[in-house]
Amino acid sequence: AKEHGKAQLEFFDRGVRSRAVERLEMEAELRDALAGGELSLAYQPEVMLADTTKMFGVEALLRWQHPKLGAVSPARFVPIAEQSGLIVPIGEWVLEEACRQAAKWRAEGQVDFVMAVNLSPRQLSSPELAGVVERALRVNDLPASALCLEITESAIMEDPEAAHRILQGLKALGVRLAIDDFGVGYSSLSHLKYLLPVDVIKIDKSFVDGLLDSRDARAIITAIVQLAHALGVIAVGEGVESAEQAAALRDLGCHVAQGYHFSKPVPADYLCFSQSDSLSA
Ligand code: C2E
Ligand code: CA
Ligand code: CA
Ligand code: CA
Repeated sequence: AKEHGKAQLEFFDRGVRSRAVERLEMEAELRDALAGGELSLAYQPEVMLADTTKMFGVEALLRWQHPKLGAVSPARFVPIAEQSGLIVPIGEWVLEEACRQAAKWRAEGQVDFVMAVNLSPRQLSSPELAGVVERALRVNDLPASALCLEITESAIMEDPEAAHRILQGLKALGVRLAIDDFGVGYSSLSHLKYLLPVDVIKIDKSFVDGLLDSRDARAIITAIVQLAHALGVIAVGEGVESAEQAAALRDLGCHVAQGYHFSKPVPADYLCFSQSDSLSA
């Protein structure tokens, strides 16, 4: 039994070590990815449920084309970038690139949409954030109201009071703020006041997944939508994959939807703003 235990321990140890090595390798490669032009942004439309030919906004999503591994999911590399601090320079690039693209679309006549950019907890606590945002807007001559910064509920709840001050500072620039993945964090009702500078609440995909079959998921979405109405903010349903889900969200009073049913995230050149070209194609 002792021998067996030792063998298992060694096996376990090798597993942990190779995962740690893989992580370090990926971190080193991520460091070069930015300079090497391996990072890009994909854009996913957020459509108005009252009239799905109208777009509310576009979310910028990071993509990494690794020279050997191919496309690496942000679910895999964003946590590594976050832990190593690399998310700060990468996030700065994302902000600049998304604002540049938003300005380009505006110059082409698409003025009525909001560019949504994800912020990680590490970026949120960086003292440079407001300056970086302000510069990205100024360089591209983009009105602040055309930019929406998405922050997860859990990032805010790590230190609600500090986050609240930072959000107020960003708000003072005139940008819009969204709470991402709402409902899966740990916010209690007493923490809701910290969300008050927010303009948009994004309902986590896990609830939308259950919307048609689960009474609980439906009840939670109903409550979040009512909260959004009471606060005078926009509710966005995430991860909408069917017409039935979109209709159910609309019937509950949800304003906006995002998901594969309307479009997957696509490179900038593939995005269609007008429904005559069909968003769902
Ligand atoms: P998120 O911010 O919640 O983004 C939504 C994710 O859901 C995206 O995954 C999107 O492709 C996916 N999605 C949208 N509609 C559907 C659908 O109908 N079905 C399914 N199954 N998925 C859908 P993606 O692009 O893989 O990004 C994953 C996460 O990585 C993001 O979740 C966000 O937390 C993070 N991320 C992506 N880009 C950035 C970035 O620029 N900065 C930071 N800090 N995080 C980012
Ligand atoms: Ca997001
Ligand atoms: Ca989300
Ligand atoms: Ca998410």
